[in-house]
Amino acid sequence: MARVMVVGAGGVSRVVTHKLAALEEFDEILLASRTLERCNQIAQSISTKSIQTAQLDADDVPQTLKLLKAFRPDILINVALPYQDLALMDACLEAGVHYLDTANYEPPDDPKFEYHWQWAYHERFFEAGLTAILGCGFDPGMTGIFTAYALKHHFDEIHELDIVDCNAGSHGRAFATNFNPEINIREITQPGRYYEKGEWVTVPPLSVHQSIEYPEIGDRESYLLYHEELESLVKHIPTLQRARFWMTFSESYLTYLQVLQNLGLTRIDSVDYEGTPVIPLKFLKTLLPDPSSLAATYTGQTSIGCHLRGIKNGRPQQYYIYNNCDHAKAYQEVGAQAISYTTGVPAALGALMVANGTWQKPGVFNVEQLDPDPFMQRIGSLGLPWHEVIDQSSPFAEV
Ligand code: NDP
Repeated sequence: MARVMVVGAGGVSRVVTHKLAALEEFDEILLASRTLERCNQIAQSISTKSIQTAQLDADDVPQTLKLLKAFRPDILINVALPYQDLALMDACLEAGVHYLDTANYEPPDDPKFEYHWQWAYHERFFEAGLTAILGCGFDPGMTGIFTAYALKHHFDEIHELDIVDCNAGSHGRAFATNFNPEINIREITQPGRYYEKGEWVTVPPLSVHQSIEYPEIGDRESYLLYHEELESLVKHIPTLQRARFWMTFSESYLTYLQVLQNLGLTRIDSVDYEGTPVIPLKFLKTLLPDPSSLAATYTGQTSIGCHLRGIKNGRPQQYYIYNNCDHAKAYQEVGAQAISYTTGVPAALGALMVANGTWQKPGVFNVEQLDPDPFMQRIGSLGLPWHEVIDQSSPFAEV
């Protein structure tokens, strides 16, 4: 039996906590976040296990340490914001607790999606005999596990990777983001970047796009973005010659975003408003719908997967692996929309893999460095069934 502490009480946390409660291997669950009321709301929505709750400012290492020492979890799941990653890793090191998150550290004043801050903790986790798993949501997360699984079973070498992320759902709001608006807008307004023949190629934000076909959904315009798992996958799969990430956006979404950008409302530097310093993007976040509030009326599906090309037994091989997730079904099951669901389910199972020893090894790891098989065997029954297509012809036009 294992004990787990979850930090953060947003949309993803709701799914993680529900799924932990459904896993018989976890008998003690503590949910801690900045706003105690939000922890209590999640705890009250779960009837199968009693969930303990606590107020916590995760930026405050001594406060987290005190809670960790009192509760003594086997693992901490960080589903607060990327800004808290390093403080929570510090607290885990000091308390002797394993760590898992779903998004890489970002300095608040610089939207850089880079792993080096967290990879620099490898020696310390190694020496402490502790495991830290980085990016165990869907993307990053399942996309890295899918790639590791493909390499293990279907390729001798992978040469090309295209991660394709489609949200074909509809929430009925004029403009809303599907996860934390601040983090989401920082991510999609940065320049696009992909890896080709040993180099990173940078293009203006959202300037490269093409129509891609998604299973059960059809064709959707998909935009080339930089996404953090590209960095770790290129590092850990050295045969990769090209790695790209594509995400769908509707025309209306992009028009709103353009207007917000043109008005300066996506800026992350401080501006003076009648003597009060205001960060426009943080102010915008307070006006936009809370992503978890979209869940009740969300319909349609997400479809996220990996198109891979390479060599098997001396012959060219093409392979596609994906999951489709239905917003309304996710809401029915745990009261969350599919973006939170597809992030929270892998985080809960990843924590179990560490707690039961399967993924326990000292150091800091991205998910593609771990054995995908035990994870892939269980993730379907936990809510994210996956499908594979071998020899699928490429859906990509040349950039
Ligand atoms: P939300 O904004 O809904 O939730 C974040 C939670 O963290 C809130 O409860 C917030 O508190 C809490 N929090 C913020 N700062 C602190 C702090 N200093 N101390 C304690 N708690 C804090 O975000 P989501 O649930 O949508 O996303 C959670 C994480 O998942 C993010 O890091 C996001 O980037 C990541 N993500 C990863 C994906 C993947 O596929 N890998 C996909 C989607 C999201 P309060 O309630 O007071 O605001």
